[in-house]
Amino acid sequence: MRKTVFPVALRLPALTLALLVAVASVRGCFALRALREEEPPPAEAPTVALYDAKRGEVLDLPLEEYLFGVVASEMPASFPAAALEAQAVSARTYTAKRLAAFGGKPCGRHGADLCSDSSCCQAWRSREEHMERWGDDAQFYADKIERALEETLGVVALYGGKPIDALYFSNSGGRTEDAADVFGADVPYLVSVISPGEEDASHYEDSFSYTRKEFAKALNNAFPEAGLTANDLEEQVEILSRSEGGRVTELRLGEVTITGREFRSALGLPSAGFTIDISSDGVEVDTRGFGHGVGMSQYGARAMALDGSDYKEILAHYYTGITLGTLDEIARG
Ligand SMILES: [Zn+2]
Repeated sequence: MRKTVFPVALRLPALTLALLVAVASVRGCFALRALREEEPPPAEAPTVALYDAKRGEVLDLPLEEYLFGVVASEMPASFPAAALEAQAVSARTYTAKRLAAFGGKPCGRHGADLCSDSSCCQAWRSREEHMERWGDDAQFYADKIERALEETLGVVALYGGKPIDALYFSNSGGRTEDAADVFGADVPYLVSVISPGEEDASHYEDSFSYTRKEFAKALNNAFPEAGLTANDLEEQVEILSRSEGGRVTELRLGEVTITGREFRSALGLPSAGFTIDISSDGVEVDTRGFGHGVGMSQYGARAMALDGSDYKEILAHYYTGITLGTLDEIARG
């Protein structure tokens, strides 16, 4: 099932029109009747077919309305304006990469351009859901998100004239990662940079404790070939290499060698930046950062914004060597 959802800004005029039509009809003038139907957004405004995984339906949304739902889902609305603007450009650029009109490749779930599942595309919740979540602050936060979108209307991040893979994450733990170290592919604008000022972030540093038995069992479940035994962990567990950003790239678990990302996923850790301390009491895993660490750090963007940087400076810091352009430019090719 497909639903067309118009933003409040488009719905209000429609309501006004409906009223006008009602009044006009009473006076015997039927000329306005054709306007009673809800008008589609202007032809030049791109639309997004979004698979809403929660409701199991595909929605047709004006691009900026979709982006409202993404920015509000992906970054706390309490963040400073320049950080929200940087997030708006990242989200718009990410979206352009999924829209055929801009040379992008749709995610394709249920035939949609994008889906609302953050493990596949970008997180998205509807405006109504956000307004409810924000409670008394709803109008204030909605205005902030609107402003971030308006200030950056149409702006996307480009490399070699094409939209970039605008990856972002919560916080790096102090330094972002090379795409090559995390995803195994060199991307010239996704390289490791310092990311100061993230200390307030949730999971900036975290600690996880296990008994020796629990630790061995959890990892043997995920990697049956590992063959860990609670008594021999000191000999069986070894970190082999780290990336420039400090995340573990490879470690040995008994008989197998796995990546830091696989270890992170097996234990549900916030980051692959970890240390492992094995003692007679048990095993402690300390982590730094939250997310894959590639691209823009959202808490780093917040810190830069609080320090007076604008969104262009934030994007230029986290995406090395990019330029900013507009959707119109890339649509023209
Ligand atoms: Zn998707």
